[in-house]
Amino acid sequence: MRRKLVIGNWKMNGSLAANSVLLRGIAEGHVEGNVDLAVCAPAPYLAQCQAALTGSPVAWGAQDVSAYAAGAYTGETAASMLQEFGCRYVIVGHSERRAYHHESNELVAQKALAALNAGLTPVVCVGETLEEREAGRTNVVVCAQLQAVLDVLENPALEKIVLAYEPVWAIGTGKTATPALAQEVHAALRKQVADRSATAAAQLQILYGGSMKPENAKDLMAQQDIDGGLIGGASLKAPDFLAIAKAGN
Ligand code: PEP
Repeated sequence: MRRKLVIGNWKMNGSLAANSVLLRGIAEGHVEGNVDLAVCAPAPYLAQCQAALTGSPVAWGAQDVSAYAAGAYTGETAASMLQEFGCRYVIVGHSERRAYHHESNELVAQKALAALNAGLTPVVCVGETLEEREAGRTNVVVCAQLQAVLDVLENPALEKIVLAYEPVWAIGTGKTATPALAQEVHAALRKQVADRSATAAAQLQILYGGSMKPENAKDLMAQQDIDGGLIGGASLKAPDFLAIAKAGN
């Protein structure tokens, strides 16, 4: 049986003082069960996460990574640098990066590869806009986003990724996909991976993201193919984040 995984995406929020309270709250409040917990912090705070969470069961990670290993890429962060700060995860292809930084499916795939090459677990985000959903193109869009990643990964590497289905219309809007609607997309994504590797598909953790909160987390995570959550807003308050994690047990 797959373990559940709940990851907080702090986005561009936080301060040394606020993070210190949040990290302590999460580390002290997390009860280990069937749910693994992680936070993805802004890059400048990774050392703080490392100091606060080392020795705790809570992992940490970053929100983006360069597709390149090193060199003249001003402003970018290499996967090896994230690895030096103890990151286990890195989010790639978040819809905010796809939209505001024009990241293509191919670039996202290269970022996933760079992460894997440095021993990190990429959390590959896919999701459709409202316009795409209303046009009946949800599966076409998310499957194309996933396919770009499948195209660059060999089978053993494929077993090491995490996938997050995040409908763009649900992110930060308070609108959540119904459990049935999310399950339908998760099942389609798992089937796409199964067509390549049954082993990878069976162990692939597919997280749901988009206004997940304590009130809806249990029903979402009860779905057969929903293996946890990628949490934005609700990950900034320790009690809410911990309540979501608890809902996965
Ligand atoms: C996210 O940004 O990944 C996200 C899911 O945000 P929120 O939970 O705030 O909708």
